[in-house]
Amino acid sequence: MNIVVTGHVDHGKSTVIGRLLADTNSLPTGKLEQVRENCRKNSKPFEYAFLLDALKDEQAQGITIDSARCFFKTDKRRYTIIDAPGHIEFLKNMVSGAARASAALLVIDAEEGICENSKRHGYLLSMLGIKQIVVLINKMDRVGYSKSVYDETCKDYSAFLDKAGIIPRAFIPVSGVFGDNIANVSSNTGWYSGNTVLLELDGFDEEEPPDDEPFRMFVQDVYKFTKNGDDRRIVAGTLETGKVSTRDDIIFYPSGKKSRIKTIEEFGAAAPQTIYSGKATGFTLNEQIYIKRGELVAKEGQPQPKTAKRLLVNLFWLGREPFLPGKSYVIKIGRAKAVVYLEKVEKIVDAVLLKAGENESVKRNEAAKCVISLDKPLAFDTSDVNFLTSRFVIVDGYDIAGGGTIEKGLLDEESLLREKIITRNIKWEKSWISAEERTEKYKQRAGLVLITGHKDAGKKPVAKALEKRFFDQGRFVYFIGIANVLYGVDADIKGQNGNNKEEHFRRLGEIAYLMLDAGCILIVTARDVNEAELDILREAVGSERITTAWIGNRDSQDLLCDIHIESFNDENEACLVLGTVLQYN
Ligand code: GDP
Repeated sequence: MNIVVTGHVDHGKSTVIGRLLADTNSLPTGKLEQVRENCRKNSKPFEYAFLLDALKDEQAQGITIDSARCFFKTDKRRYTIIDAPGHIEFLKNMVSGAARASAALLVIDAEEGICENSKRHGYLLSMLGIKQIVVLINKMDRVGYSKSVYDETCKDYSAFLDKAGIIPRAFIPVSGVFGDNIANVSSNTGWYSGNTVLLELDGFDEEEPPDDEPFRMFVQDVYKFTKNGDDRRIVAGTLETGKVSTRDDIIFYPSGKKSRIKTIEEFGAAAPQTIYSGKATGFTLNEQIYIKRGELVAKEGQPQPKTAKRLLVNLFWLGREPFLPGKSYVIKIGRAKAVVYLEKVEKIVDAVLLKAGENESVKRNEAAKCVISLDKPLAFDTSDVNFLTSRFVIVDGYDIAGGGTIEKGLLDEESLLREKIITRNIKWEKSWISAEERTEKYKQRAGLVLITGHKDAGKKPVAKALEKRFFDQGRFVYFIGIANVLYGVDADIKGQNGNNKEEHFRRLGEIAYLMLDAGCILIVTARDVNEAELDILREAVGSERITTAWIGNRDSQDLLCDIHIESFNDENEACLVLGTVLQYN
């Protein structure tokens, strides 16, 4: 069981941990004597905390200090103490997935009493969903094992924790230095009839492995076999929750692309039929679909994840610089990344006073409920459903500057469109002929060439010349001017009141999707296409399959295109330039 020990500095975390290790005989042979001897030699008093330092030093030779951990065991089970010298490390580890604690010990100095960090840590535990908590009122020897000091501290701290939504399992009067009520019942606290720390730990419930929850996995990478004409691809990642088997239908988010698991691959072992939560795995698919690193995989027939570009989140800020609106950061949800902006601070929560306040930015050590907006949609679950797929970190430069969990996905201009496309992909009736087979047959990869520019720039002649050129080369190619769609497919919405431009583009996107699915190179012309309109096409066919060309003059506000042909003598010259850039082999 993974546990985390938190508390204000000097309240005795390391001493309590050292004691736990010593009293459960979990130290390497001779370690205790060695540390005592060292202290004697240097004429300094022995401290249990030194044990921890000595262990860390040893570990640090092999691994980074960040992931130093220590272990002890009782008759019941093994414990791992996640070493988090401060709340910053702890929060980073928890939200980045480096560590997961299922229980916590909160250490408070009986003499000094409740400090800011005692409260802040309590708040963090509640935000991170850690519910099994025991409070240790430490250094009881310093207050003469006084029942009234214990009672008073319990009363004040419970009042705070209650507001943060935490009900500790117990408040134990302990002394790390003298070992009272750590592993052994103390005779100094006759007035206390509760359990020792060890007994409380053994009473914690084991968290069930989340195998029965909906299947979730972030795609870490897609590997391609290259040997002997093998064209299989392995989708690799670690299962966050649930389980998955061969022949299961799975859906990738945010794209909504669907496929079926063909084989589960295991290095140097027989291929298993089912794989469970917490395991790293790789699988091959029945159909080769284009998927990207970071996509979230779910199983058909189970509750599906959400996708959104705007998120309502609860976060904790650790950065030296505050979290500011208008500045760009990077958000990481699982393996997926996007550029993110702070849109609005809904409220600041003072993690010490638990009072809500208002501000436009979030400062170091503040917790806040915020709306953030991403430059592209990402997939996730909300924190009430799945902590593991709702957590995120925000990176400022190279540093993790904040982290938290997603409470809700919010609407943006393209939410509805995205929903339609996900549904279209999920419902898509697949042909027996794969995209690869079509590529092979037509000796080309399907793609969309969007030719845009101002009125009368000569888009259509260039497009038609390009179509002819490709056709003469034996390619499967087709040209559509936006008007071809306007008066046919769009006849029902043409000329209606209101702005139907989005719907025109959605339909154009769907037509393009069909043509590309048939293996065709599609050339489309449309006037003054802007970023939002191109986004609609990107959503429909996938940005990786679109090449954009701007013909004629361009202002700085105009769409940034892959190719810009400013001036040309005739359309053949222009399409010669295009032809050398466009690669569909
Ligand atoms: P940390 O910063 O929370 O890890 O605190 P340490 O474990 O390093 O303890 C800080 C100081 O408090 C050290 O000098 C310890 O010896 C002392 N200390 C810790 N626990 C106790 C205790 O139960 N009784 C007394 N008298 N001193 C303690």
